[in-house]
Amino acid sequence: MPETLVKVDLKQSPYDNEKIHNRWHPDVPMACWVKPGDEFVLETYDWTGGYIQNNNSADDVRDVDLTTVHFLSGPVGVKGAEPGDLLVVDLLDVGAKPDSLWGFNGFFSKKNGGGFLTDHFPLAQKSIWDFHGLYTTSRHVPNVRFAGLIHPGLIGCLPDQKMLEMWNKREVDFIATNPTRSPPLANPPFAKTAHAGAATGEAKTKVAAEGARTVPPREHGGNCDIKDLSRGSKIYFPVYVDGAGLSVGDLHFSQGDGEITFCGAIEMAGWVHMKVELIKGGMAKYGIRNPIFKPSPITPTYNDWLIFEGISVDEYGQQHYLDVHVAYRQACLNAIEYLTKFGYSKAQAYAILGTAPVQGHISGVVDIPNACATLWLPTQIFDFDVRPNANGPVKAVTPGIEVPLSPDV
Ligand code: ZN
Repeated sequence: MPETLVKVDLKQSPYDNEKIHNRWHPDVPMACWVKPGDEFVLETYDWTGGYIQNNNSADDVRDVDLTTVHFLSGPVGVKGAEPGDLLVVDLLDVGAKPDSLWGFNGFFSKKNGGGFLTDHFPLAQKSIWDFHGLYTTSRHVPNVRFAGLIHPGLIGCLPDQKMLEMWNKREVDFIATNPTRSPPLANPPFAKTAHAGAATGEAKTKVAAEGARTVPPREHGGNCDIKDLSRGSKIYFPVYVDGAGLSVGDLHFSQGDGEITFCGAIEMAGWVHMKVELIKGGMAKYGIRNPIFKPSPITPTYNDWLIFEGISVDEYGQQHYLDVHVAYRQACLNAIEYLTKFGYSKAQAYAILGTAPVQGHISGVVDIPNACATLWLPTQIFDFDVRPNANGPVKAVTPGIEVPLSPDV
């Protein structure tokens, strides 16, 4: 195996590991250096740094301090990388930590993070997923089993100071348009829980004060949560600083398009085996502003779907103009309602949409006033026939198992 350049001990706090950081800032020191052509391995924490436990209580999902996330491994410096280059990253393999063969999915409380369907699921809930080689099952969501499409939710290079200032300004200005909203419109820098990697003294203070939070995807990639950016993909990242500074974390065993449950996919601690190369001056040569990637040749072959439509009329009957967000929400709510007819609770159905290899598609964005979005549910993940027929749905789901719920305190 190639050398492991970042090691993670799940019993140690991520704050005590200098090769981990949780803010984007050009002054986060490189955790290690590699040359173009090198292969190496980085181990990672789960995105919360081990806060969420393998148990039957959602109190940890309810109480998690979201200013601490995401704990990233890196940055990896690449010798010879300069602003304007493209960093080519081969995700040669991604896996779970052998001493942690499980993951979690949760819904945040509306008062602490929320999620895509937070108005319908305002309280914290959690499901635990066990890994069996390629496959996963959950004691909280029975009668489904699927192969993982394992991927990093978050990967990207360090911004330069100018880009960082642009991010902070536009997000702070945006928050100011509705500063009391819950959940908030965006997350500004927050010094108290910042982890600046190996930075010390003035640099550490600067990273903490100015470092961009890791929640949104931005021009550099970052927290894109693209399920198809999986092991076997090749990604082309814009480079903004000397050495590029590649960081990765937030590994997912599996995820549905949209990561609609927000906490999140099937979240896990793991490792990434990768190789890096450079295309000098590649950003201008190819006109690249945001990353591009080639998907893996290896993906689970689910090829039979039930496809749920949604339009941009919301669940309260309100018309919206070509709003894909509203349309996808309706498609998801329609799928949840359908799955309850087989015996799933709404929370179990929501967890399936967040974790299974569900596809989301933008189907129409021109037919005024309604956008149309579709949610593709793979039928082969269920151990019963989930398709409609003349006899009506059979209550096939094992009763008596639930997704634990934690009321707000
Ligand atoms: Zn995640």
